[in-house]
Amino acid sequence: MVEDGYKERGLRNKLVAKLRQKGIQDERVLAALNKVPRHAFFDNALLSHAYEDKAFPIGQGQTISQPYTVAFQSEKLEIRPGDRVLEIGTGSGYQACILLELGAVVYTIEYNQVLFERTREFLPMMGYKPYFFLGDGSKGLPQKAPFQKIIVTAGAPIVPAALTDQLADDGILIIPVGDRDKQRMVRIRKKGGKLTQESYDNFAFVPLLGEKGWQ
Ligand code: SAM
Repeated sequence: MVEDGYKERGLRNKLVAKLRQKGIQDERVLAALNKVPRHAFFDNALLSHAYEDKAFPIGQGQTISQPYTVAFQSEKLEIRPGDRVLEIGTGSGYQACILLELGAVVYTIEYNQVLFERTREFLPMMGYKPYFFLGDGSKGLPQKAPFQKIIVTAGAPIVPAALTDQLADDGILIIPVGDRDKQRMVRIRKKGGKLTQESYDNFAFVPLLGEKGWQ
């Protein structure tokens, strides 16, 4: 287990104060970001940057998302304890830990085999136990559907119909949609079988790959 001392806790407090200033209001989300030791997800060479509000490389051309982005998507999901949540893009596993801290039952799917294996081994060592899947999350995870919440942590060219199909009634999907290097954050709610959509600011995610992603 990585050391989590006075210095790291102080840096996390400062980061959370910054997220609050930037508009994150959900205290449960802020508490989750204050609890999960983000530095544990960093290589030694980048360790001193772990509490900057920035995305950083995690190998395989992929990134751990910016804390503000993690907080923003988590807040918009309105997680209730016990919600079954599908995360598309496991990456480092940091976002999955935040969802677990919020009381969700987390199903997380990753396309890249190296990241899948690394994170599947690492997260349980930190005490976090989502259900891990290797595969193309642009098609969702039909064998475990429906989900109360779905979060896509890579930039999609379209909203894949499979994801709205796999959403439970009263469910929420949060997904960045746009071109390869800039996307608008979109939230979709399903109610009585009907979908409604809200759009937020632009974000910059790595591309969602796979059948309904970028080729
Ligand atoms: N949620 C991650 C975290 O907390 O570190 C950040 C994810 S990173 C910005 C995007 C991830 O999505 C990468 O790990 C990438 O391999 C993965 N990805 C891309 N296309 C995918 C797909 N079709 N299915 C599942 N994962 C995909």
